[in-house]
Amino acid sequence: MSALPEVNPAITEPSGKVTGHGNASSESWQRQLADAVRDPCRLLDVLGLPPDPKGREALTNFPLLVPQSFIRRMQRENRSDPLLLQVLPRPEETLSAAGFLADPVGDTAAAKVPGLLQKYEGRALLIAAGACAVHCRYCFRREFPYHTTPRRLQDWLPAIDTIAADASIHEVILSGGDPLMLNDDRLSELFALLGDISHVERVRLHTRLPIVLPARVTKELTALLLNQPWQPIVVVHANHAHEIADDCAGALQNLVRSGIPTLNQAVLLKEINDSADAQEQLCRRLTGLGVMPYYLHQLDRVNGAAHFECTEELGRAIIRELRKRLPGYAVPRFVREVPGAPSKTPLESDSVR
Ligand SMILES: *Cc1c(COP(=O)(O)O)cnc(C)c1O
Ligand code: SF4
Repeated sequence: MSALPEVNPAITEPSGKVTGHGNASSESWQRQLADAVRDPCRLLDVLGLPPDPKGREALTNFPLLVPQSFIRRMQRENRSDPLLLQVLPRPEETLSAAGFLADPVGDTAAAKVPGLLQKYEGRALLIAAGACAVHCRYCFRREFPYHTTPRRLQDWLPAIDTIAADASIHEVILSGGDPLMLNDDRLSELFALLGDISHVERVRLHTRLPIVLPARVTKELTALLLNQPWQPIVVVHANHAHEIADDCAGALQNLVRSGIPTLNQAVLLKEINDSADAQEQLCRRLTGLGVMPYYLHQLDRVNGAAHFECTEELGRAIIRELRKRLPGYAVPRFVREVPGAPSKTPLESDSVR
């Protein structure tokens, strides 16, 4: 397979309107969001698969949600498709497993004020939006109390005041949920508040929208990000090479070519990307577009996600293999989040390199 995926910057929408960088109106990503699939039977039907009545049990707290663009990158009639497995509810989610918790990474303890988490020196994480464009079944935030997170500009003010009062905070990470679920007007307001704080040097967006809803990456958005007193950094989240195709590849290329440093974090997921081949393909596709692999995360042990867990030994073996196959810059750091630790915890010890 070529390291350089085919890029298709002009995507024809159902309306027949051609969108690409600069042409995709914000209305179009919002319409695509409204058209996202929420019914597992419909998703399976679109993919030519029979319905699975047992999957419904898992829907109670965290319903299925997946945009059409992401579905188009799934293989038809393949129940084991690596993209499908990330979003399709499975009966295993209702099982409890020892060591798997509602808040495995200590988010509740790290909240300084509502919507602001600080675990590490120099950077604070703002829950900018309560929603995502996709529901990833393994997500550690699947049990996060989003109804308590800020929704209006005024609700952000306690978090903004806290950041403003602490000159040691040089980077604000906008997370969620997904910060790019906010429209450009809301983002502008939030960016302006952050721009008024002179010690905020960088603003990092942790977002999956460029992957699952690439139409969100408009020319207006990249311009907005670049037109700030702080340095923008975008960290996307893709787990499998098949995600980096079609309109997604175009969106990533647009981010990179507009001059925004763009990194990727992935989660090591059983039967989805748990091989050196799968990780190599992912890293090659990313770097072929100028997106740098940042982290490969060991799964956070959230309730209902035990069936996605791989051993740390497997992760280490994969990274060892990647070091042989790829240039150093293309190998992500394999880490896990340990509650109370001063940073993400590296899992690759020097002795195994
Ligand atoms: C993961 C995380 C960060 C970012 O860590 P980096 O190593 O800088 O990427 C910051 N704050 C919180 C609360 C986090 O969970
Ligand atoms: S987009 Fe991110 S925060 Fe949202 S469900 Fe997926 S992994 Fe979780």
